[in-house]
Amino acid sequence: MFVLAHLGITAFLASFLSLSPLTALIASQLPDLIDKPPYILGIFPSGRYIGHTLLFVLLFGLSTYIITRKKIIALSVSFGMLMHLIEDLPYFIPWFYPFINYDFPKGPFKFTYTLELFILDLIGLSLLFFLYKTNKNFRKEISSFFYKIKQILNSLNK
Ligand SMILES: [Zn+2]
Repeated sequence: MFVLAHLGITAFLASFLSLSPLTALIASQLPDLIDKPPYILGIFPSGRYIGHTLLFVLLFGLSTYIITRKKIIALSVSFGMLMHLIEDLPYFIPWFYPFINYDFPKGPFKFTYTLELFILDLIGLSLLFFLYKTNKNFRKEISSFFYKIKQILNSLNK
């Protein structure tokens, strides 16, 4: 799946489980943010590498808990990352790497945006709009997120 599909489907399901939709939405991008840049630079053998493993799902959830001491935020991070891996199926996912060795599909970076990806992105975008319209918590999370960004930008301008 591509960005909007990951965002929308993950946030929607997180709200169902009473997790933080915004946290899960941000975490749903982590596997690709970890794996894709080093892959494009030729450092990782595959675009689905260490960031697309259960080990990283657990490590990020645990680290988030140690930093924030908030169970719901830590669970939302792990959920968002786990959903990314599930949403990437049926493509190759190295679930248990590095405990099990995988034959990583090798080759240079290439990406084609297909009609299927476009439809999934449209579904993701619709789910985000629906969630924004119907979920007060999600709206509150988004406005406080942008408020914090504004504060950071203001402090940088001083
Ligand atoms: Zn991915």
